[in-house]
Amino acid sequence: MGNMRRLVAYYPKVKRKKTRVVYVGQVAIGGENPIRVQSMTSTPTWQIKETLSQIERLYQAGCELVRVAIPDEKSVLALKEIVKESPIPVIADLHFAGTLGFKALEQGVQGLRINPGTFKDRSKLDDLIRACKERRVCVRIGINAGSLEPEILERFKYPSPSAMVESAVRWVEYIVEKHDYYNLKVSLKSSNWWHTVKAYQLFARRSDFPLHVGVTEAGGLIPGTVKNTLALGYLFLKGIGDTIRVSLTADPVEEVYVAYEILRNLGLRTLYPEVIACPTCGRCEIDLMPLYQKVVEWARNIKANLKLAVMGCVVNGPGEARLADLGIAGGKGVGIIFREGKIIKKVKEEDLLKAFFEEVERFLQDHPERFIT
Ligand code: SF4
Repeated sequence: MGNMRRLVAYYPKVKRKKTRVVYVGQVAIGGENPIRVQSMTSTPTWQIKETLSQIERLYQAGCELVRVAIPDEKSVLALKEIVKESPIPVIADLHFAGTLGFKALEQGVQGLRINPGTFKDRSKLDDLIRACKERRVCVRIGINAGSLEPEILERFKYPSPSAMVESAVRWVEYIVEKHDYYNLKVSLKSSNWWHTVKAYQLFARRSDFPLHVGVTEAGGLIPGTVKNTLALGYLFLKGIGDTIRVSLTADPVEEVYVAYEILRNLGLRTLYPEVIACPTCGRCEIDLMPLYQKVVEWARNIKANLKLAVMGCVVNGPGEARLADLGIAGGKGVGIIFREGKIIKKVKEEDLLKAFFEEVERFLQDHPERFIT
C-alpha cells in the first residue's frame, strides 16, 4: 500500500474532458473509458498472413484497435479473413471516395476512417454514412492539414488549426444533422505538433465527440517520439484525447510502446512495469545496455504496475534507485539485487538476470494488487 501511494503521488493530476462514448466493435472510446491505444499495420493488407501476424504482435504489445489501409480491391477482399482472425477490432482506412468503403463494410470491419473533404460527390458520402449506420460501424472523421477541402483553404489561406477545425465541425454537424448518426470520432492531424495541439484544443471547445489524437508524419523513432510526446503530452495534460495513435516511421509495435510510455508518465494508464536505468558513467562496472534491454523485453510480458531499476554500479545504484520496487546493480563479475532500496542478494554476473526475474515474481506474489487485469 505504501508503495502504491508512492507511485501514484508522482503523477500530475489530469481532469479529462467528458466526451461522448462511441464503440468500435466492443471497444468503448470516450467518456470515462481508458485512453485506447491504437496503431496501423504497415504490411500490404492483401498479404493476409503477414498482416495478421503484425496485428498479433500489436495486440501482444497492448494495442486495442488496429487500422489497415485499403488502397485497392484485393486489400478490401482480404479484410474478411483479417477481421475474422484479428483479436482486436479492425478499422479500414479509406483515403478517397469510391466503392472500396462499401466493400470494406461488407467484409465486416468495425470502423472506417474517412476524410469527407475528399468526397467530390456528396451523395456517395451520404450512402456510405447510411451503410455505416445500418451496421453501427464507427466512423472517424480524419481531418488532415495536407488534404483540406479547397473552399476551406481559400477562406483560411493556409491549413491553419482554425481551418482544420472548421472542416471537422462542418462534417460532424453534417453527419449528425443529416443522418442522425453519432458513432463518430474525430482527428485533426498536422505534421506540426503545435498546430496539431491548437486544432484539437479549438475543436474540443466546440464539440463533445471523442478525439483520436496523434501527430501525422512525425518521423522515425527519435524525432517522432519527441513530436508525439510534446503534442500528446500537452493535450492529455489539458484533459483532451480519448484514443491515441503515435505515428512513427518504425515498426508499428514501437508506436504502441511509445503510446503506453506517454500514458504511463502522465499517470493515465499502465500496462507493464516501468524500467528505469542509469545513464552509466565512469563508475559503471557492467555492460549495462544489453542488460537493460533484456529487462525491458522481459518486463513487457508482465502485466503489472511496478518500477524496476537497472543500475551500473553497486556503490550508487541502490541509493539512486531507491524509489524502485526492485532493481539490479552491476559490480565486477557480480551483481546485487535490491528490493525497496535494500540489498537482498549478491549473485554472479551470469546468474543476475535469472535471479532478478525470480525476485520480481516473488514480489508480485507478495503484492498481487500490482497485477493489471
Ligand atoms: S549508478 Fe553508478 S554507474 Fe550508474 S550513473 Fe550512477 S554512479 Fe554512474
